[in-house]
Amino acid sequence: MTRAWVEVDLGALRRNGAALAARAGVPLVPMVKADGYGIGGLRAALALDSLNPWGYGVATVTEGDELRRGGITRPIIVFTPILRTEIDALRRADLTPALGDPAVIESWVRTGRPWQLQVDTGMSRAGMPWHQVGEHRALFERAAPQGVFTHFHSAQLDDGSRDVQERRFAEVLAALPQRPFMVHCENGPAVERRSPSPWTVVRPGIFLYGVPGFEGGAIRPEPVASLRARIVELRTVADGETVSYDATWKAVGPRRIATVPVGYADGYRRGLSNRGSALVGGVRVPVAGRVTMDMTMFDVTGTDAALGDLVTLLGEDAGDVITVGELAQASDISPYEILTGLRLRLPRRYRDAVAGGRA
Ligand SMILES: *Cc1c(COP(=O)(O)O)cnc(C)c1O
Repeated sequence: MTRAWVEVDLGALRRNGAALAARAGVPLVPMVKADGYGIGGLRAALALDSLNPWGYGVATVTEGDELRRGGITRPIIVFTPILRTEIDALRRADLTPALGDPAVIESWVRTGRPWQLQVDTGMSRAGMPWHQVGEHRALFERAAPQGVFTHFHSAQLDDGSRDVQERRFAEVLAALPQRPFMVHCENGPAVERRSPSPWTVVRPGIFLYGVPGFEGGAIRPEPVASLRARIVELRTVADGETVSYDATWKAVGPRRIATVPVGYADGYRRGLSNRGSALVGGVRVPVAGRVTMDMTMFDVTGTDAALGDLVTLLGEDAGDVITVGELAQASDISPYEILTGLRLRLPRRYRDAVAGGRA
């Protein structure tokens, strides 16, 4: 019997993708980088393939290669800048780089293969600075990019920065010798905020995996990932006894303590010590004391929790739900880190609501 695992609802993933594509009105380029935000990159891509996405987005050549070996034949864009020494590996796996450095572009265009021009309009992370695109017009005349794109740094906020970035991006489009076949800007939160898309594809990530970019958006994703485990020990501690390292939790009266075999080495963050909660039979139970590397204790006083019972640390149980957002807030990190932090020590269990489940 599995002691702890991550459950992945591929049907929910697909419905999230369909909802986002309907809102955007253009095809998706689902971001399946970082092993599909922790839920499984290849499994995510296979599940989303029936939505007819234009292609997929990854961060590294290795991630793209894994998709190719898994049978993905659509275009795959590598969004993190590549080194010139990686060009051969990209060619071999038939991957499309997102380029911003003129020297790397010069090297790549000799392959005669498609590439995308990454433009920095304010994120200052990757891509050619928007005001430099005009200087390289001759290069783009010789070797036109298949696509041009930028990335919003604060699409989840309503702070006006997106409009600034869009104006810069419009300058880029005007500076190019011709409008590329693909023009794209929007991550998931950008599509949640504005619809339909004025460009040719959208690049959602976190929304697909069940996390809204902000509260109160026009569409809400269904949860995709759940973290479940079984109670491996139970004890009653007397008044005044403490639980876990550093003795930060002290029993007031006799308390029943359940030990769950999940800790920070599984991605259940130490920041949840004395702050997180889980569901046991639909009842919320608080973390008691420090989360340890391999185990976490919960105060299950007043419940009928028994050895081997299911504990939901993330996800839905009997009508209540622990969301990624809740774990993120309680541990004071971003929802992206919660999802991508679920370690592979937790086996993944996939289920697919589509009868038979192709993925
Ligand atoms: C990760 C990423 C996305 C997806 O962002 P989300 O906030 O997860 O929707 C889109 N575009 C680029 C370039 C990215 O790196």
